[in-house]
Amino acid sequence: KAKRATALITGSTSGIGHDLAKGFAAKGYNIVVNGTRKEGYQIAEQLKLEHNIDAIYLPANMKNADELNTVVEKTLEKFERIDVLINNAGVQYVAPIDEFPIEKWRDIIDINLTSAFVLSKAVWQQMKKQHFGRIINMASVHSLVASEYKTAYVSSKHALIGLTKVLALEGAPHGITVNSLCPGYVRTPLVDKQIHNQAKYHNISEEDVISKILLTKHAIKEFVTTDTLTELTLFLASAQASTISGTAIPIDCAWSSS
Ligand code: NAD
Repeated sequence: KAKRATALITGSTSGIGHDLAKGFAAKGYNIVVNGTRKEGYQIAEQLKLEHNIDAIYLPANMKNADELNTVVEKTLEKFERIDVLINNAGVQYVAPIDEFPIEKWRDIIDINLTSAFVLSKAVWQQMKKQHFGRIINMASVHSLVASEYKTAYVSSKHALIGLTKVLALEGAPHGITVNSLCPGYVRTPLVDKQIHNQAKYHNISEEDVISKILLTKHAIKEFVTTDTLTELTLFLASAQASTISGTAIPIDCAWSSS
């Protein structure tokens, strides 16, 4: 019997990553849940029960290359293949440049960018052997446009597009596609924290932060939903998407059109 396809999703203990894990489990993928939080064990158990697939939680800090390499080793020990790598874990820090701590800059570059390089490198040989691989990077509209006070985030997400393009070229002869999704605002704990901080900083209500700051950039005055991201990611992971590679797809309510 053919083995089930396996998806490793970083940062899948919360927000977008957690919803992607549920969507891929519902489609019959075995799932490697990853993150830094204890809930990961419970999330993996729940995916197994609800979707009749196999799932494990492999915690790792995105800042630690050894831990990331171990995640891939353990994934292959357990599932013997890895079809989809979703580099989703990411963090944000907002401050004007003259107040931006260099440690925060380094953390964000490590977590949002270097981890994607390390994990892509770690899965590469196996994906080549399979002559099939899908690497999907959760980039951002901030891969395409800038906003003030987000030096590290915007830089890391722009660079992720560069990584995506290079790996698309290197993967092409081996059946490996590499793409990036560039979402606008999605209502997750990461964004809730920003809403809370901006409300305090500007001394306005959280509703005003949403309507007067966040969604002003969206031509379509809505948050992007994780359903949209899940459906698109599932398509990019499918066999039908074999000719789509090296892209940075905006899902940004037309933010980057202006
Ligand atoms: P979130 O804060 O809800 O979840 C982030 C996940 O990353 C968590 O599972 C957390 O455990 C994990 N993580 C953070 N630091 C880690 C570390 N050092 N090691 C291992 N795991 C770590 O965030 P989210 O909103 O779901 O964001 C997911 C991705 O989507 C990020 O890359 C983010 O930049 C991107 N994104 C989010 C939005 C948005 O509006 N929410 C928009 C564009 C892009």
